Amino acid sequence: MTITYELGHSLYVNITNRCSNDCRFCVRNENSTVNGTDNLWLEREPDVSEIIEDIKKRDLKNYRELVFCGFGEPTYRFFEIIEVAKTVKKMLDIPIRINTNGHGNRINGEDITPYMKGLIDTVSVSLNAVSHEKYNEICQPMFEDAYEELLDFSQKASHYTNVILSIVDILPPEEIEICQKIADSIGVKLRVRHYIES
Ligand code: SF4
Repeated sequence: MTITYELGHSLYVNITNRCSNDCRFCVRNENSTVNGTDNLWLEREPDVSEIIEDIKKRDLKNYRELVFCGFGEPTYRFFEIIEVAKTVKKMLDIPIRINTNGHGNRINGEDITPYMKGLIDTVSVSLNAVSHEKYNEICQPMFEDAYEELLDFSQKASHYTNVILSIVDILPPEEIEICQKIADSIGVKLRVRHYIES
């Protein structure tokens, strides 16, 4: 079962296959891997000690960043992430990022963002769309106000960590401009990623 995997210069951590979205473009719809090697479908969710043991098998000095991402929405396991981050930061002060759909507060039933302070260096939130309607059409979330939720989460998280809203460059330029305004309005950065077809 793949808990950690390499992608670029980063070490990624795969801890859940649960997700509150069912994105039409999700890589999981057609693939079992993102790096061409490791199958990211989990037999079961690893516990904190298993995650730490798997990370310890790697030499963290070889990586620029530790990223909680994988095949699912990592904030389903947010408090496990925090436990792992505390241990990792004692081992080495490597930057830690969470890639998320921004639904973590709804998923956990509380504002989880203050727990990130001093442990999570960056949160990358997938914005994906310029509006509630477009988001619901593309991402098919479990709850109706998921778009508003991710923006609220991003704004709250920005008090405790570096927040980046991300979109892919297949959006038309006028929509990218709107996304930039949305990011500006809540005081976070926008990153336009290059779209890679799965
Ligand atoms: S939020 Fe991510 S993991 Fe979840 S369905 Fe969308 S692309 Fe897939």
